[in-house]
Amino acid sequence: ARNAANTFKVSKDQAQRNAKQLYEKERADQKSQFHMIVIGHVDAGKSTLMGHLLYDTGNVSQRVMHKHEQESKKLGKQSFMYAWVLDETGEERARGITMDVGQSRIETESKIVTLLDAPGHKDFIPNMISGATQADVALLVVDATRGEFESGFELGGQTREHAILVRSLGVNQLGVVINKLDTVGWSKERFTEIVSKLKAFLKQAGFKESDVSFTPCSGLTGENLTKRAQEPALIVWYTGPHLLEVIENFKIPDRAIDRPLRMSVSDIYKGTSSGFCISGRIETGVLCVNDKVLVGASREQAQVKALTIDELSQSNVFAGDQVAVTLAGVDVNNITVGCIICDPQTPIPVTTRFQARIIVFNVKVPITMGYPVLLHHQSLIEPATVCKLTALIHKSTGEVVKKKPRCLGNNSCALVEVETSRPICIERYADFKELGRIMMRVAGVTIAAGMVTKIR
Ligand code: GDP
Repeated sequence: ARNAANTFKVSKDQAQRNAKQLYEKERADQKSQFHMIVIGHVDAGKSTLMGHLLYDTGNVSQRVMHKHEQESKKLGKQSFMYAWVLDETGEERARGITMDVGQSRIETESKIVTLLDAPGHKDFIPNMISGATQADVALLVVDATRGEFESGFELGGQTREHAILVRSLGVNQLGVVINKLDTVGWSKERFTEIVSKLKAFLKQAGFKESDVSFTPCSGLTGENLTKRAQEPALIVWYTGPHLLEVIENFKIPDRAIDRPLRMSVSDIYKGTSSGFCISGRIETGVLCVNDKVLVGASREQAQVKALTIDELSQSNVFAGDQVAVTLAGVDVNNITVGCIICDPQTPIPVTTRFQARIIVFNVKVPITMGYPVLLHHQSLIEPATVCKLTALIHKSTGEVVKKKPRCLGNNSCALVEVETSRPICIERYADFKELGRIMMRVAGVTIAAGMVTKIR
């Protein structure tokens, strides 16, 4: 399947470029950046918490906050004023829920954190997945209110599913926010009870204890968000970091700048001048104006005419950047959302069959040979079948428990082969973490997630 486009000449420049040096020269004085996804059960208080945090860190203007305050008062929904910072569309506001993965930024002294605020509703899991595939770290928000933590944490509640999802998609640093602690009188016992339940579960889900923190907060009152605890009932037992410190202390993942170029396309639109635009994230490598690239599974060749980040023109963009690219020399019909742009010297594998290591959850009918699914890979959604069940494996050791199982039920971990009807661009997780993660969905429910282990 690897039909390298070796007839396609790239410039000498492109072949010999030192990406790391270029990056250091251009971005030396810039703040480090990472993407954070906020997950948790519906109504855990995610939007309120993040809105309040954005406001307290000076990332929302007084004017905008005042507008939200006035509007929420008028509707008698004042407790929503912070949440509205994140939910900008009228429909969401009317329904009082966060639907899409809204993006905002928290800028601190040394860091820029892009927030991917995940929706809590069940039907919106696809949006969350696309957010989670971009996330470097995650905040898990749980509601400390008696009964509420329990319902979010039960089987079927989103606390568990979200945590398993982000872990399966490669996120390993997790900040757990024990939120709404005002509703239980800042009780230490309640905090400790929730922490011990979550600790056991998160360990099982594959998080290392040293990569998980627990922070008591109230998104509504603003307690322990950007200042150390002040609430008398809280300071008697908590002297740890506030939420902003937790966020600043996340270890920043290295940008994979010195790898071959891979960019995943999340949107396509008509450009202002010649050619057309695609937008998405540079997963690895560097891309420069005038570079030649290969597009998607068709491996058509195209030339980069212009690059922008947040509408500002750039000569070079790097791994980790969210960019818009103007392309010329390629038929727009050959580009689809979810396809990958790569460099001609080291093109991405194109295949219809690969092996993956998956964990299964939420299946009503166990997975058997020939099971049809919708495959999610970055922004790509493609019909596929599980065409072979290779082995059941142990969740943590990875040892083969049983070869050729007849079916896979909930909570099983397995090696399977997946076949798509059309060729897709995909990488092994071992080669390109960013492009080796997959999810499978059936009838609107995520049934499995995992990583690509072999490409046929
Ligand atoms: P989301 O669905 O997770 O985004 O939750 P929201 O931010 O929309 O909050 C759900 C409800 O909980 C709203 O009525 C909020 O006013 C309320 N809420 C959020 N945070 C807190 C908190 O810290 N304390 C209390 N008492 N209520 C909160």
